[in-house]
Amino acid sequence: MENIKVGDLVIVVKPTTCCGFIGDVGKVFTVLDIDGGIGIPSECWNCGQVSDSIDAAERDNYWHEIKTLKKIPPLSELDKIETKEELPCKV
Ligand SMILES: [Zn+2]
Repeated sequence: MENIKVGDLVIVVKPTTCCGFIGDVGKVFTVLDIDGGIGIPSECWNCGQVSDSIDAAERDNYWHEIKTLKKIPPLSELDKIETKEELPCKV
């Protein structure tokens, strides 16, 4: 599992595990905080259930379970991947 931390750009790839809410799937945000560090309960804004998993917060204090998120690699890493994919074509 990828290690998501504050400052990472992430995308929501799964519905919430509490109520299956899919409205945030595809949403991209920068992680503001992890697991309630700013003093706000990590509850699902859709159904109100407080999650016992480690969550990540975006701005406006919406919480997302980390297991529903996927880290988006920095642009520099994307460049490396593109270079790798081009190599076999040149050989
Ligand atoms: Zn919910």
